[in-house]
Amino acid sequence: MNQKTLWKLSYGMYVVCSLDGEKLNGQIANTVFQITSEPPIIAVSINKQNLTHEFIEKSKVFSVSLLSVDADMKLIGHFGFKSGKDFNKFEDMNYKQGSTGAPLVMENTIGYLECEVIDSLDVGTHTLFIGKVVDADILSDAEPMTYAYYHKIKGGKAPKTAPTYISEETKNIHQEDKMKKYRCTVCGYIYDPEKGDPDSGIEPGTPFEKIPDDWVCPICGVSKTNFEEI
Ligand code: FE
Repeated sequence: MNQKTLWKLSYGMYVVCSLDGEKLNGQIANTVFQITSEPPIIAVSINKQNLTHEFIEKSKVFSVSLLSVDADMKLIGHFGFKSGKDFNKFEDMNYKQGSTGAPLVMENTIGYLECEVIDSLDVGTHTLFIGKVVDADILSDAEPMTYAYYHKIKGGKAPKTAPTYISEETKNIHQEDKMKKYRCTVCGYIYDPEKGDPDSGIEPGTPFEKIPDDWVCPICGVSKTNFEEI
């Protein structure tokens, strides 16, 4: 079986959020899709280890914030590579709570959906939550970010709990560049000197060694010392 065929599937990039009483949480998900239009019903696939999973099971509601191509790696890393078990992801975040109470991310978001869970399916590592859309709105005309864009342009990785995660051993890392690439040992982000990290002010063509010491991984936020040469 050629598992890479699965990489050819198209997805978007979303922040799926829910709540438990006063506690709010959200996470990056690419597996969000519409099932029916009358009534509007969507499905999301959420890893059972994630706090958002626990919150959706309890509250029976979730929201989906649709990210624009302008969403930077910090926002994606904030929701995608850190656990809400360790800190409140919505502190210092621009958000609002909609009719279901689930938070809606108001940064780099082109629109949102609010859903009530009408069914769920246990699929081993993940649960497929089926939600009836009870509210939705468009917030901007910006282009939605696709999963392919995230991988190609942003150099993004899938966290180990993502449905689309494939271990590093199954990938061949192309390495013929003169300047060395460095990998974040925490989240797997690869710093490519040719691309730099423009979101954090690192110009394309900057070797890893020349990056200021206070620079942090654009995805998970750890310091340079957590990077290894590849
Ligand atoms: Fe990282």
